[in-house]
Amino acid sequence: MGSKIVERAAFIYDEISKLYPNALCELNHTNALELMIAIMLSAQTTDIAVNKVTKSLFEKYKSIDDYIIAPLEEIEEELRYLGLYKNKAKNIKGMVQIIKEKYHGEFLNDQDILESLPGVGRKTANVFLAEWYKVPRIAVDTHVKRISARLGLAEFDDSPENVEKKLMKVYPKSQWISTHHKFIFFGRYFCKAIHPNCESCTMTHICKTPFLK
Ligand code: SF4
Repeated sequence: MGSKIVERAAFIYDEISKLYPNALCELNHTNALELMIAIMLSAQTTDIAVNKVTKSLFEKYKSIDDYIIAPLEEIEEELRYLGLYKNKAKNIKGMVQIIKEKYHGEFLNDQDILESLPGVGRKTANVFLAEWYKVPRIAVDTHVKRISARLGLAEFDDSPENVEKKLMKVYPKSQWISTHHKFIFFGRYFCKAIHPNCESCTMTHICKTPFLK
């Protein structure tokens, strides 16, 4: 690993840290079940939209059994303001059933088990493991992917898995979770997909997207 890219990565981390020193998971939850459901619901939608929906969802359904007993249509109705809500409702029903039957209601600290659940891919499992078990992980969502490419830590056509590998090489393990949060905040609030805040950005000299400046 060249020292230049490691230096670049450290510079990016420091600059984003100045803007968002306390970047955190913004999905409201109070236990592992709620966290997993919130992450599953966050696919292709905003955390704000998810939090609106989960406010009443989590009041209504408190346990794995509550989701198992509830008819699919009832859960769909709760999720109706979210994109892909029918699929998400179906996946939640399938997920809780497996967690109850195979894993005694526990969300284990195990990437393979988590990824075998319906609707849970690598990104969802990574977010869950990092947030719940504090396992060092860099979950790559649309923001992390875009920021990594714009700032030269990955290519624009890299797969999320490749971006993850590249970021894990240039950041120390102790910063993986915070890198994920900071990149998400930077992408969500500053370097947006459309109309990024380039005029106020301190990283224009290393940015790969001069057409936006
Ligand atoms: S210069 Fe603009 S596009 Fe590049 S990182 Fe900064 S805000 Fe994002």
